[in-house]
Amino acid sequence: MPSLNEFAGRKLAELETRGQRRELVDTGRGMAGRATRDGRDVISFCCNDYLNLSQHPQVKAAAAEALQTYGAGTGASRLVTGNNPLFAELEARLARIKGAEAALVFGSGYLANTGIIPSLLGEGDIIFADELSHACIISGARMSRAQVVIFRHNDMADLRSLLAAHRAEGANALVVTDGVFSMDGDLAPLPEMTALAEAHDAWLMTDDAHGLGVIGGGRGSSFAFGPQKMNVPLQMGTLSKAVGGYGGYLCADQPVIDLLKSRARTLVYSTGLPPASVAAALAALDVIEAEPERVVRPVANAAQFCREVGLPTPESPIVPVIIGEETRALDASRLLLDEGYLVTAIRPPTVPPGTARLRLTFMAEHDPADITRLASLIRDRIIKRPAA
Ligand code: PMP
Repeated sequence: MPSLNEFAGRKLAELETRGQRRELVDTGRGMAGRATRDGRDVISFCCNDYLNLSQHPQVKAAAAEALQTYGAGTGASRLVTGNNPLFAELEARLARIKGAEAALVFGSGYLANTGIIPSLLGEGDIIFADELSHACIISGARMSRAQVVIFRHNDMADLRSLLAAHRAEGANALVVTDGVFSMDGDLAPLPEMTALAEAHDAWLMTDDAHGLGVIGGGRGSSFAFGPQKMNVPLQMGTLSKAVGGYGGYLCADQPVIDLLKSRARTLVYSTGLPPASVAAALAALDVIEAEPERVVRPVANAAQFCREVGLPTPESPIVPVIIGEETRALDASRLLLDEGYLVTAIRPPTVPPGTARLRLTFMAEHDPADITRLASLIRDRIIKRPAA
């Protein structure tokens, strides 16, 4: 057996060869849409803090006050002594915004998915997941020990035939999908999906990490298909993107929430979120509810970019520019960095082989002039590459 360091060194070298070694990237201080790269300040088009709420004075003040009142940490699981009244307030607010009976706040979105799914399904049960589901949905599904059946991305004919083929009597079944796909920015077709789940007696769960605060009037993907709320009994999400802080949640009916309080291992056996995070989320939700003009900005900015590049109208603030080959995607990202724009290249295994891409996320505070400049760089120097 190699020593630990030999093992790590060998694995790192393998990652290096495949171009998959990752590095950490600092955010600019006090500026959500800025980052520091190679010692330079650049404008970030890859931050999920869509509404810039991580830097909002009201949000920071609420976090500071909670820190002073309750302290830096909760000291234990919420089921031991780690709970405080801020959680109930945040849960009531999330439930109201999502049109659900109740909510439960987890330590993060990742912890939410890996806690929720294994609490509801187990051996002998079946989970139908979109092939582009976020990694933590897949982790939760695997941890549940239920059978996992993957359907083609947003392909409702495929889901229908898989449900017909595999849905067995007596087993619990779950259909699970991102509400807004994190790498492609498209929405799950919830009108068809809710109908299919109902017809096949399966529960439906959305991961709306990228929906809350930016689509459906800020209420997320269940509200993005006209005035009628989609019937999604399990609406999961995170507080780390448009809400600008940290934490995860599930909105559902009261009995489901009550069950998860006792069963979700990532809630029961993990320390409650720091009070400052809970208070920050509440203050951020105040802003989201009070400022509809801020909520529409990220998608409007994405739409400006798509118009100027000649891409289809986006459904969310996430816009992929598919490049294909990994090396070309990396070159494109480097070119943009040289021009002062941080746009990450996303490569396999995060996305399917042959679909390496630039993934852009648009924020409320992006300047239209920067969007225009970025669009022309991508249109003229990356999509239409000059002959070599
Ligand atoms: N789901 C989706 C779709 C996400 O994009 C992310 C964050 N990358 C998560 C869940 C995880 O959320 P968190 O960062 O709060 O753990």
